[in-house]
Amino acid sequence: MTSKPGWGDIYTELGATPIINAIGSVTLLGGSTPVPEVKEAMERAESAYVPLWELEEKAGDFIARLVGVPAAYVTSGAGSALTLATAAFMAGEDDKKIEQLPDTTGMKNEILIQRRQRYWYDRCLQLAGAKLVEFGSDEKVTEKDLEKAIGPRTVAVHYFMVTQKPDPNALSLESTIKVAKKHNIKVLVDQAGQIYPLDLLAKSVKMGADIACVAAKYMYAPQSTGFAFGTKESIRALAKQSFIGYETRRVRGVGRPQKIDRQEIVGAVAAVRRWMTMNHEERLASIEQRSRVIAKPLQGIKGVKAEIIDNIIGQQPYGVKVTIDAQAAGMTAQQVVDELKAGKPSIWTRVAPDSSNAIYLHIFGLNEGEEKIVGERVSQILKAKARK
Ligand SMILES: *Cc1c(COP(=O)(O)O)cnc(C)c1O
Repeated sequence: MTSKPGWGDIYTELGATPIINAIGSVTLLGGSTPVPEVKEAMERAESAYVPLWELEEKAGDFIARLVGVPAAYVTSGAGSALTLATAAFMAGEDDKKIEQLPDTTGMKNEILIQRRQRYWYDRCLQLAGAKLVEFGSDEKVTEKDLEKAIGPRTVAVHYFMVTQKPDPNALSLESTIKVAKKHNIKVLVDQAGQIYPLDLLAKSVKMGADIACVAAKYMYAPQSTGFAFGTKESIRALAKQSFIGYETRRVRGVGRPQKIDRQEIVGAVAAVRRWMTMNHEERLASIEQRSRVIAKPLQGIKGVKAEIIDNIIGQQPYGVKVTIDAQAAGMTAQQVVDELKAGKPSIWTRVAPDSSNAIYLHIFGLNEGEEKIVGERVSQILKAKARK
């Protein structure tokens, strides 16, 4: 079985190598394929120009109503939402301060982050000039740790929300918000992938977070878009930091390089509308079924266990975990990943971050039918070694 005719031509014409994406929604490989509803909205955007300040406001209102939060803003990815939020917290609506960032002289500029929650994206919190201050230990983070860390320069506390795999030793969002409110500091939540069940989208803001950031790449919008959800006050301040705040108001904030198109803004709106109204049972059933197609040819191979991942929460439901006993299978998980990548067409996957003897295969980035190619190729690679 091979890929469709014309597959990846646009890349090979340039000398770049198209691949089959079995990792999922990752920026590395392109993040997302906008669905037809989104592409149609983007095409319709081209019929006219529109003042982007107004479009952002109306798009934000529309999304906020759909999601059930007081206010929303479409950003250049969740990463930009994180940066603009920190800028908004530090400068508020003071134009002098907006133009001064990333120089934070005279402003509260410290963002607290749990030691256990330091992660890949925390750099986005520093970009506008904020300083990260850790609290808690590697083992456990308590309310006391947060209390102790709050000082005269603290402007906000950050929280990384992962409902499908909660960290029992991290400080909970509830406790974080409780302590933050008591000390009058802002709460910023990265909930980039917390998009299902649907009530997760508004949950942190309803609990009291000031701004929550979501990645639209997970909702099949262009991967260059994201959302900030939050209080009216916080989102108003965030808007002033944005690329269009810079142009419309002639006040030069740090958000100028984080530009998005009008096509992308209406595309992101269409993606949220689809997400909030679609049949999620059908969506999940299809992903589960396609996961089974991957897992099927992997049954009964020596040293190999292929299981459907039992999760429907967040951005990446189901998928297949393939655990490889290197001794019995005659190869390691990393070798399987390397052989998949070296094959034709190249299939990209990764060794599981939480276990070095397993790989994860996910449906998100697979075109219809590619699940069969992936399952069969992994099976071939493992069987070839098992025979030797
Ligand atoms: C993807 C992701 C981001 C960044 O989102 P972009 O829209 O790609 O900027 C931030 N945080 C988490 C947890 C993510 O998964």
